[in-house]
Amino acid sequence: MNEGFFVGKTAIVTGATRGIGRAVASRLAGLGCNVAFNYASSAAAADELAAEMEEAGVKAFSDACDVADTDAAAAFVKTVKNELGSVDFLVNNAGITRDGLILRMKEADWDAVIDTNLKGAWNFSKAAVRPMMRNEDGGSILNVSSISGVVGMLGQSNYSASKAGMIGLTKSLAKEMASRKITVNALALGLIETDMAGDMNEEYREKILEQIPLGRLGNTDEVADISAFLLSDSARYITGQVIQADGGLAM
Ligand code: NAP
Repeated sequence: MNEGFFVGKTAIVTGATRGIGRAVASRLAGLGCNVAFNYASSAAAADELAAEMEEAGVKAFSDACDVADTDAAAAFVKTVKNELGSVDFLVNNAGITRDGLILRMKEADWDAVIDTNLKGAWNFSKAAVRPMMRNEDGGSILNVSSISGVVGMLGQSNYSASKAGMIGLTKSLAKEMASRKITVNALALGLIETDMAGDMNEEYREKILEQIPLGRLGNTDEVADISAFLLSDSARYITGQVIQADGGLAM
């Protein structure tokens, strides 16, 4: 990656108050990128992260914004462009789980997961591509998907469908946007140590660990490494790809 590639550019990371989003947002700020991020309800964590970024010398912008709300997503992106000057990168990270076998899953659990994970990524992509198209160098979008969307997981019909949908969104958008120098890729993550993974019961965790060839969960720094690479000029010839980072779990 060219030293200084991210300096002065602007990234939007959805759902950056915790876990993967926070690690990716912090990494981009550490590389000199101005960062805007949203969250569902963690206002105090957002203020703390924004202050950390400003201390590191970049501009930060944060606000509560439900990714599932199309108008709110459009307004958020518009404000970012006005406040920070450009939109160069988008990381569609915000996501939730509402697991359960289909016989017991409520319609509301299906709707919440599809609306947040899939429609949320579409909402932010739709709003962000317009300012990116005006950049001389285009931009990059990274969709944080899951191996659950590649191979399917028991009790995750809603989540697997949302994450498979993000992969379709990635490939379609990559084709639509290639002529505007906008690359679009997806990460299909395995289990990463965050609050979301902490929701697993101990027995299930042990069972999954036995199936991961590398013998451990991934960590958020590792996801930040891959994300920074995929958004950088080192990856400018990569688009429409699904990069699997799962310790070998789904090979
Ligand atoms: P996490 O620790 O639960 O954090 C989720 C983040 O998303 C929080 O910042 C949360 O904000 C935000 N968020 C949730 N719903 C939102 C909404 N409707 N609008 C705006 N922001 C919202 O999750 P994580 O484990 O870091 O996961 C991040 C992404 O990676 C998700 O898309 C997930 O599906 C994917 N992934 C995770 C794993 C894993 O093992 N952890 C594996 C594969 C894929 P608040 O703090 O305000 O709630």
